[in-house]
Amino acid sequence: MSAILGSVENLGKMLVSGRPVRARCEQCGAIKEFTTEDIEALAAKVGYRYSLIDRRCKCRLTPGCDGWNRFEYRQNVWWSMATETGRLNEMRREARQRERLREFIADYQSRSKR
Ligand SMILES: [Zn+2]
Repeated sequence: MSAILGSVENLGKMLVSGRPVRARCEQCGAIKEFTTEDIEALAAKVGYRYSLIDRRCKCRLTPGCDGWNRFEYRQNVWWSMATETGRLNEMRREARQRERLREFIADYQSRSKR
């Protein structure tokens, strides 16, 4: 992990480094930059060791949007907090989910033919 990514490794380090972090929606493009108070409030719920690296959450920035929010930190410009390993794992998880859905549908169709 780079020194810069290390400075946003978890909520505690984000508070110590003061590096700007934001959530951005892939779908609607809404952006929310976190204040110190936002990070403190989140840390109160999930702990200071919680990491936003390789995380995503359903959009809560725009009502009705079902896109994903991902996290970015600023070092001159905004950089994604997703790592290559994280992206790869996410793609594998989604592929497994699609496979399970395919199996479920195939099973359902074969049952309904009987
Ligand atoms: Zn959105």
